[in-house]
Amino acid sequence: MTMRLSRSIVGQEEAKAVSRVLLEDGYLGMGAETKRFEEDLAAFLEVDPAHVITTNSGTAALHLACDAVRAVSQKTPGQPEILVPSLTFVASFQAISAAGCLPVPCDVLLETGTLDLADASARITQNTIAVMVVDYASNPWQLDTVYAWASEKGLRVIEDAAHAFGCRHHGKRIGSFGDVVCFSFDGIKNITCGEGGCLVTFDDETARIAGDARLLSVEGDTAKRFAGGRSWEADVKRQGWRYHMSNIMAAIGRVQLKRFQKEFLAKRMLRSTVYGQRLCKQEGIALFTTDPEDFIVPHIQVVRVLNGRREELKEALAARGIPTGLHYKPNHLHSFFGHGRVSLPVTEQLYSEILTLPMHPGLSCQDVEEICHEISKTLADPRGTLWATHRPSLWS
Ligand SMILES: *Cc1c(COP(=O)(O)O)cnc(C)c1O
Repeated sequence: MTMRLSRSIVGQEEAKAVSRVLLEDGYLGMGAETKRFEEDLAAFLEVDPAHVITTNSGTAALHLACDAVRAVSQKTPGQPEILVPSLTFVASFQAISAAGCLPVPCDVLLETGTLDLADASARITQNTIAVMVVDYASNPWQLDTVYAWASEKGLRVIEDAAHAFGCRHHGKRIGSFGDVVCFSFDGIKNITCGEGGCLVTFDDETARIAGDARLLSVEGDTAKRFAGGRSWEADVKRQGWRYHMSNIMAAIGRVQLKRFQKEFLAKRMLRSTVYGQRLCKQEGIALFTTDPEDFIVPHIQVVRVLNGRREELKEALAARGIPTGLHYKPNHLHSFFGHGRVSLPVTEQLYSEILTLPMHPGLSCQDVEEICHEISKTLADPRGTLWATHRPSLWS
């Protein structure tokens, strides 16, 4: 069997849940099953179900979050700005600009790949309304510090927690505290609905605006649909989108949430522990730092490959049938988001070093051992140094 970088783990149970919606419920759109999924998520996160808003993607949740935060915030003299680490999926940036805000790319910390608050501080202007913090590689690094910093600066916080479903920061589950927290349930995330996502917010006004905006801003339509009805006469006062989650998606998500607790969580953590044990002393590899008081259920397994040997290692692994990934091309280098007009030295250094190794519950621990063995073998070979000096670097 060919090894996969990531994959959905779905089976009979999900298939049965979907066929129940198809054959018995007779309503495929947003209805009772979506309501039950929101209740299940709320129970898992230990929050009020009224604060959980499911969506048809994580990007949609982030867009709604930016839109609602913008709507609630005081008017700024110019276009509202949202600080965001450049090292993230392009979805974070697109969601900010879709809400009519300017994404302001910030540098990250070398040890974690997460937002550098000192750099972010220097980029605050009179138009800054929020910071979007990303739990890069599922690491909720210093999240309490981020909240304290944001409150001191008077900024809202939007968490792009797409990598961090099921994680905890200092004992508290991600999504159980804070301001606005967004998850993704796309095909390869810690749980999947096929595609999907959700937004959790503890601010009633933000929840009301985002909850309506997911259904074309038809006021209070969620409650009607959850009761099996529709709103025929409700007013529409602002822009909205068709971002709601269907009963079909919710049926998959409900099974996945159960399997996450029984099965996926432990499997992901075990694979990551094996990687950590095998690679922590590996010369030429640096692992990201995590806080021992955080609980991390890894979505992706990223390492830094030092001494300019990333491309060589990537090719050596590919030759052995081991796929790798690159999370991510920094967003400030994209044409649409500044074309490298700002320079973010740490982000750019990481861009030349990071390599994503296979990580999913379908991977065996034997696979992980093999991957680490190939890494050791390749990096122990001094030919690699020669290879690297004769290859054009990414930045030349
Ligand atoms: C997956 C992901 C998203 C977007 O989620 P979708 O459900 O794919 O739209 C946003 N940010 C990050 C960091 C992600 O990994």
